[in-house]
Amino acid sequence: MIVNLNNMSSSKLGIQGVPLLDLGRQHSPLKDQVTAALGRIWDTGAFILGPEVKQLEANVAEYCRVKHAIGCASGSDALLLALMALGIGPGDEVILPSFTFFATAGAVARLGARPVFADIDPLTFNLAPSEVQRLLRPATKAILPVHLFGQCADMDAMERIAGSAGIPIIEDCAQAIGAEFSGRRAGSMGRIGCFSFYPTKNLGGAGDGGVMTTNDDALAQKLRMLRVHGMEPRYYHKFVGINSRLDSFQAAVLNVKFPHLDRWSEARAANARRYAAMFAAAGLDGVLGLPRHVSPGRHVWNQYVIRVPNGQRDRLRAFLAEAKIGTEIYYPLGLHAQECFRHLGYTEGELPETERASREVLALPIFPELTAEEQQYVVDRIAAFFA
Ligand SMILES: *Cc1c(COP(=O)(O)O)cnc(C)c1O
Repeated sequence: MIVNLNNMSSSKLGIQGVPLLDLGRQHSPLKDQVTAALGRIWDTGAFILGPEVKQLEANVAEYCRVKHAIGCASGSDALLLALMALGIGPGDEVILPSFTFFATAGAVARLGARPVFADIDPLTFNLAPSEVQRLLRPATKAILPVHLFGQCADMDAMERIAGSAGIPIIEDCAQAIGAEFSGRRAGSMGRIGCFSFYPTKNLGGAGDGGVMTTNDDALAQKLRMLRVHGMEPRYYHKFVGINSRLDSFQAAVLNVKFPHLDRWSEARAANARRYAAMFAAAGLDGVLGLPRHVSPGRHVWNQYVIRVPNGQRDRLRAFLAEAKIGTEIYYPLGLHAQECFRHLGYTEGELPETERASREVLALPIFPELTAEEQQYVVDRIAAFFA
């Protein structure tokens, strides 16, 4: 279908609203395949770490171009297990961005280590390499960059810093399955990559799930043990691990969805390009901060996050809610400013780009099945707000 940006008016199309995410459009064509797969597991009774989990791990390893993929119960657990496998604990520091989902820092804190919050590059919202350099100390035991919104952090710079300090990188790839940096896939660049299958991610399950990736044989073995209480063989425990098994139902759903992942991520990227053209046609590209793709490699657009300057973000969000347009704020408060981390002693103004982003960001609908008409409706309503 040809979209004429100048003549198309969404009001003529009768659109009543646009959800932030509509999983139903993605899931209804897969329903028969999913229910058949779930029915087979029901009949066999192999509910935990069954053959579907092994198949999913093989799919992920091939897709991320790594030797090993190890399923677990969530993206949060993937981060926790990765840090456990690297022996991180009390007295250790881990450098990570403040502008991310809580799990990135929660995993560090739960092990008794100190999350050291770094500011972001305002262009990409990703961990700023200069900040990692500034915060590096002898106690730093790992760097934990997040590939936020589907775009890889500057991994060349991270690797230079981590390499000279002799410490590992753990990648938080929860929002970035399939993203690339200079031809390398997210999850294949650090010692361990951590992924989430939460339903809003580019590859989402019907519940919680996660996976870890690594090229290190010994680490892979340790991660496999840690997710089952450090057990190997059965009822003999070498480490104190946790219960973080992936269930066969989740893996079966994900295996059905896997062949479509690249098509969905391409559709997200096409939607991002279309927003850019529509915002430019509406004269809004100078009013809003549009998301920039600056990393050298594939962006998978888990979120399309604009900046709304001059304190207008919350009013725009309310205006869009009245037009039944779903939006979200990722994230309204940096982790360094969270109540549970008050004892770490951060003060306001310490991470200025994180604080500015928290005031300005607004995520718009970008899901793969979003139509051009719906995007035009979103852009038209934003134009109406600024008119
Ligand atoms: C979703 C997410 C996680 C946690 O994943 P869960 O599966 O929800 O535990 C971690 N980090 C980031 C950046 C995320 O977006």
